[in-house]
Formats: sequence, C-alpha cells, structure tokens
Amino acid sequence: MTKQILEKFDMEKIVSLCRRRGFIFPSSEIYGGLSSCWDYGPLGVELKRNIKQAWWRAVVQERDDMVGLDASILMHPQVWEASGHLKGFSDPLVECKSCHLRWRVDDLKDSNCPSCGGELTEPRLFNLMFKTFMGPIEDEASVVYLRPETAQGIFVNFQNVLNTTRKRLPFGIAQVGKAFRNEITTGNFIFRSREFEQMEIEFFVKPETAKKWFNYWLEERLNWYVKLGIKREHLRLRPHTKKELAHYARDCSDIDYQFPMGWSELEGVANRGDFDLVRHASHSGKSLDYFDEEAKEHFTPYIIEPSAGVDRSALAFLCDAYDEEPDNDEIRVLLHLHPSLAPIKVAVLPLSRREKLAKVAKEVYADLRQCWMVQYDDAQSIGRRYRRQDEIGTPFCVTVDFQSLEDEQVTIRERDTMNQIRVPISELKTTLAAKLSGEELFVLPPGGTIWKVEKEGV
Ligand code: ATP
Repeated sequence: MTKQILEKFDMEKIVSLCRRRGFIFPSSEIYGGLSSCWDYGPLGVELKRNIKQAWWRAVVQERDDMVGLDASILMHPQVWEASGHLKGFSDPLVECKSCHLRWRVDDLKDSNCPSCGGELTEPRLFNLMFKTFMGPIEDEASVVYLRPETAQGIFVNFQNVLNTTRKRLPFGIAQVGKAFRNEITTGNFIFRSREFEQMEIEFFVKPETAKKWFNYWLEERLNWYVKLGIKREHLRLRPHTKKELAHYARDCSDIDYQFPMGWSELEGVANRGDFDLVRHASHSGKSLDYFDEEAKEHFTPYIIEPSAGVDRSALAFLCDAYDEEPDNDEIRVLLHLHPSLAPIKVAVLPLSRREKLAKVAKEVYADLRQCWMVQYDDAQSIGRRYRRQDEIGTPFCVTVDFQSLEDEQVTIRERDTMNQIRVPISELKTTLAAKLSGEELFVLPPGGTIWKVEKEGV
C-alpha cells in the first residue's frame, strides 16, 4: 500500500468495498440488521473457504503429526464446568445509569460513560456464553451452551483420536468451526462479533518439550500469514504479561496485526500445560493419560494451542491487500490478494458480445471453471471490466478478441502489474496453473509472446 493511501486508510473503505461487491453484509439486513452478526456474500464465502482451506492444508494435509476433527457445537454442560468457562468466562461490566449502555471495564479510559458521560454502576461479572435448552422442556436441567471456543471438542476427544489413529506424541488435532460469545463490546466490523469461526490446533507434547513447541508454533503461525501475503511489518508478537495470562495458560503470546484501528490480536498461541486434560479427567472420571512406551510411564501431556479466527484473518487479509492507485483522473482500487485466497482466480472477458467471439469465450470459460472459480463478464468496456476484477482481487483476466478467432490465442492480464502476455488457447490452462502458483508472468509457454508492458519493473 502506498504511504499516501495508508494515511487516509480507514475501516470504512473495507466495509464499503465488502458491501458494494458482495463480500460481507450485515445479518438480517432487511429487518434492520442484527448487532455484530454478519453474512458472507458470494465473494466473502469464497474468501473464507480459501482461508480455511489454506490453513487446513498447512496444518493437517502437509504434516504427518496432525489430524482433523469436527466436534459438535452443543456439548455436555459439564464440559464448561470442567473448562472453567461457567465460572471464569466472564467480563467485568459496568452500566451507564443514564443511557444504560454497558461497557467492559478493560475498555474504559475514565470513570464516566464514553457515550453520554453519565455515571457508571459498580462492575459486575457477566458470563459470555450463550445459553439454550435441549429437548422440549425449558428448565435448568435442560440448559446447554453454544460453545464459546472449539478447543473443548478437541480435549474431550483426545483418547478417541489417540485410540483410533495410533498417533504418538508429539501430535496435534485441528478443528475449524463456529464459536459464539455474548461479547459486551463489539464493533470494528467483523473483528469482534458474537458469532464467529475459529481455526484451532491443540498440539499434545511431553511436558519438558512444551517451551520448544510453543516457540515452534508461534513462528510457524506467524510465517503462515506472511506466506499468504501479509506484510511482515504489519505483524508483531506480543507476549502476555503474568497478570494477563488466562487461568489455564502457563505462557501465551498474541500474533497482532496492525488493523486500521490499531494493533490488535489476530491469533493467540498458548501453552495450556496439563490444565485441560487434568480437569476433564477429574470431572469425567475417565483417564486422559498418555502411556509412553519407551519410558514405560503414564503422564498427562501438555498442550500448545495456536488459536486463530477465520473472520479476523479475513479482515487482516482484506486490509493488507487493499490498495488505491491513480488511474488518469480516477482511482484504481485493487486487492493484492494472494492467488490462493482470491475468491475468483480468473475472469474471462470477450472483447465484444458478437456471437462468434462469445462462442470461443464461453468454451474457454467452461474449460477453466473445471479447475477454478472463474467469472465470465461481457458487460461494459474492457477497461471497466478489468477494474471490477481488480477491486475483488482476481489475479488474472483472460481476454478473447477478434484476433483469437484467427490465431486461437488469448491474452492474460496480470492484476498487480497490468502486464499482458498472449498464449495459445491450448496452453491456457497449464499457463494459468503455473501463474497461480507464483510463476513470473513473462515466463512464456510454447507459442506465447509478451503482449503489453504496462508497468515495467513492478
Ligand atoms: P479478544 O481479547 O480480542 O476478545 P480473546 O483473547 O478472547 O480475543 P481467544 O479466546 O484467544 O480470543 O480466541 C482465539 C481467536 O479467536 C482470537 O485470536 C480471534 O482471532 C478469534 N476470536 C475470539 N473472539 C472473537 C470474536 N468475538 N469475534 C471474532 N473473532 C474472535
């Protein structure tokens, strides 16, 4: 992002782009919206799927010490007793005596209401878990909770996974899923909402190796964001002070991102020690020990937990990718999204709607969509269509022109540089596959030529 842009960059630009182009809408908008809940539109759902897929690929598919899980959202109420959520998952809260808005004590800068300046009540604890009832009778015995984190589903399945996969330490379990928190202060778009998605890893290790694995996962997770395009200088590690540490944690560090509203947590990496397995073993009466065959001893593993948010990651990827460039008298808005995250990988654009051209363009489109999410756009000028694709982060546009009818070649235009090459249609799929995997645009396939150099050296 250019400096000039960064200075006037604020969340409104992202919110407005997301709304305008169908990434994210307020939930239940026709009824006036539901506070801090969001709906992901046609492009947003692709972005989110791509983030989750990239995460799963990095932490499960490409590793042999990790397996996946998909536990149910509703869990036995005792889980939350054992985890400490029923007792400890509360934020101290104050209420304004005049306007009745509630505030988190941690967020207050002075002793009056930030909204109207009114007097505030004494703090009281407020449990963040959503309650509901299971079965036909709504009484205390049927209370269940919507999970406030996915982690507990992993802990209670530790023995199941161990027995069925025959994994040995160190190994981890990964899970992606919805979590719900009745947050007091929400806002900053999808940064903090009441329904969100998490991507969590619980990595089980021998206690004496916990520190090493904690550092390993911190670095691994930080690098994941960088590999997917977030600028390193927009990320920082922030170790928790002793006072800040959650009740279960021995060590914790946040991976912060420089969001438009300032540095804020993107992901937390914690050393949870043996807290969770010991608690669940004592509440359930089931052993959650591990037997080390070499040392012939039983012990409770320690757990390293990298816990990320899908929505916060989406926001960080969008903010980091957002850019504006002068374009004659206008501004070219573009998202420099990494190709593996871009909702649409390729757009097919016939230069005109004439039948002969449309036929070839539709054939190209039909062929490419076997491999990727591809858009076909034949409305308005080619310049406008390029801009529409730039704004949603589509890495490549394929243009079918009149010459294509003669030479069976098409042009490929790269989003970031606007440079173009011309390639035979028979080479198009393999060429795009290579470019989407990071190959330089000007590395040409057989029969390919450099077509247009828009910005040299970019
Ligand atoms: P915060 O202090 O910002 O409320 P937290 O420390 O409570 O976050 P964790 O419990 O560590 O968050 O959750 C792990 C991750 O889940 C966070 O790093 C974040 O990406 C995501 N997350 C947590 N709460 C929310 C929320 N209300 N909305 C969106 N994402 C969330």
